[in-house]
Amino acid sequence: MIKKWFEIITDHRISLYERMFRLVTGICMIALVFTMPMGRTLWNILIMVVYLIAMALIVKFSIRKKCVHTGATIVAILLLTLFPVCFFTAGGFYSGVPEWFVFCFVYVCITLQGRRRNTFFVLCTLETLFCYGMAFYHPELVAQNEQHHAFFDSAFSVIMVGLLTCVLLMFLNRMYEEENALTQKQKKEIEELNRAENHFFSSMSHEIRTPINTIIGLNEIILRENTSEEVAENARNIQGASKLLLSLINDILDISKIKSGKMEIVNVSYETGALFSEIVNMIWIKAKEKGLEFKLQVDSSIPSMLCGDEVRIKQILINLLNNAVKYTSEGSVTLSVRCERQAINRVRVWYSVEDTGQGVKKENIPYIFNAFRRVDEERNRYIEGTGLGLSIVQQLVELMGGEISVNSVYTIGSKFVVMLEQDIVDDRELGTFTLASRTKVHESEAYQQSFEAPDAHILVVDDNDMNLLVVKKLLAETKIQIDTASSGAECLSLTQNYHYDCILMDHLMPEMDGIECLYALRAQPTGLCQNVPVVALTANAGSDNQLLYRKEGFSGYLAKPVSGALLEAAVLSILPKELVHLNENVRQTDIEKDILIFEQAQRRSVLVTTDSVCCFSFVHLPRQCSHKGESMI
Ligand code: ADP
Repeated sequence: MIKKWFEIITDHRISLYERMFRLVTGICMIALVFTMPMGRTLWNILIMVVYLIAMALIVKFSIRKKCVHTGATIVAILLLTLFPVCFFTAGGFYSGVPEWFVFCFVYVCITLQGRRRNTFFVLCTLETLFCYGMAFYHPELVAQNEQHHAFFDSAFSVIMVGLLTCVLLMFLNRMYEEENALTQKQKKEIEELNRAENHFFSSMSHEIRTPINTIIGLNEIILRENTSEEVAENARNIQGASKLLLSLINDILDISKIKSGKMEIVNVSYETGALFSEIVNMIWIKAKEKGLEFKLQVDSSIPSMLCGDEVRIKQILINLLNNAVKYTSEGSVTLSVRCERQAINRVRVWYSVEDTGQGVKKENIPYIFNAFRRVDEERNRYIEGTGLGLSIVQQLVELMGGEISVNSVYTIGSKFVVMLEQDIVDDRELGTFTLASRTKVHESEAYQQSFEAPDAHILVVDDNDMNLLVVKKLLAETKIQIDTASSGAECLSLTQNYHYDCILMDHLMPEMDGIECLYALRAQPTGLCQNVPVVALTANAGSDNQLLYRKEGFSGYLAKPVSGALLEAAVLSILPKELVHLNENVRQTDIEKDILIFEQAQRRSVLVTTDSVCCFSFVHLPRQCSHKGESMI
């Protein structure tokens, strides 16, 4: 029986509280059994037997009925009534009962909680004072004990209470240590699980991005060619579907990055007008296609340049605006931006997205920011979505130290307001910004290559033949001479014989990956490309990739799938200027912002004015929160 009891109190499947209740009450009962024969009257022993049976039944029933708190309270009441009775019938001060008052305090402390525990502390104190007072002022109420009985009872009780309290504390200590070890183990398991989940999401994203790269890339080639309207229409639909799939993968990756604490906020200086133009260009056309009016109200006093995470701010606003368009069938979508000065170089910007759509039921509002949770499923059945957008938005806003609020009335409309604090880079006011005054892009414009470089020679390294084909086709119009290598070893053999102006390198390749290949390239004794810029062109879009590739010595990073325009812009910014003939007819768009060519590889014009001859090993231009443009020394 003792073995079974021991097994129960060490069984982690049972709640810690129930195990403590069993332990303390069990020890209390053992103590009562032991003290029973010591110097007590027959009445005294009888009362204790009745109480013991009652306690055993209470423990049994309260555990069976899963009301352990009530069981502990009833046992505490029994002890509170038992000890005074024992006190008066067993000899008062001259017995071992006073020590058991102490045990009563210990029992209450361990088994009761909250206000109930405080109440019982007061009751224990009052009871002790009452018993002592009565015994002092009315000694005739206390049964007289023979001196040697009193001596044995008292000594035995002190030892018993002392020992039992020690045993109790030892057990409790052990239970806490075990719980602690278990918690640590579970924490490690959760961390391990998170790592595995993050790894899974990255590799899943990599695996899906590779075929999407082929689909988007080759589809772009179809769109470039003069095909029939029907084929072009199909190609445009494929493009739309692939981009949707890509945004879904990006959302899942973002959620995984945020969960693992790897989402970084990168503050850069950006032009507010350019940001609004880009967002409006993306959204107003969608609103128009749905027959919605798109309204824009931008505070003209907003500084023209701010410092913030431009990419994430864009992501937040596009998400909210996409939702507004998605969940509105008639009426309008309004984007309003206003600002308030916080300090001389700090501003608070409120971005508000309002729609006249279906709104959210009041009871559903608390759930709309939960990941993977879509509300009003019945009504939204035919509207595509995953329930990830608002969760990402909320977490990004929190990471940036901002606030988000929602005000929605079912069937009337919704208003989402995001507040972000940012530093001012250029204090000049943005001025009037309207739909008409924004910088427009013409998405439907036919493709034109941005430059030609027939004398340039580049190498593309990728283990996937389709990826090699896509890059070759996307850059075909630029007339660049392109060699391909399907492994690190082949790349090294080519660089032994040829000089390239730029190398585009995949990361995850069998046998020798892109990073190993880059190291080997840099250290190749007779190689001709030791100092050639190498850009990572990879589907590996996991956490902190920018940092990784920068640290490993790559000159830039392009995530697959990559569009023709982006690829051209990246290659253009790296190729020596003398090899490039820019196409004068092509308008230079904003695309430069999206390519990630690390500053040490960018060819910037530097004007050196000095009266002494000295050596400049390199010029470092900080990209973060710096004005774009040419540097001057
Ligand atoms: P989803 O991919 O489902 O759009 P979100 O996280 O973006 O996921 O939004 C969560 C839920 O919040 C949506 O399923 C929708 O019910 C509701 N919701 C979000 N924005 C709006 C809006 N502008 N109007 C009405 N309901 C909205």
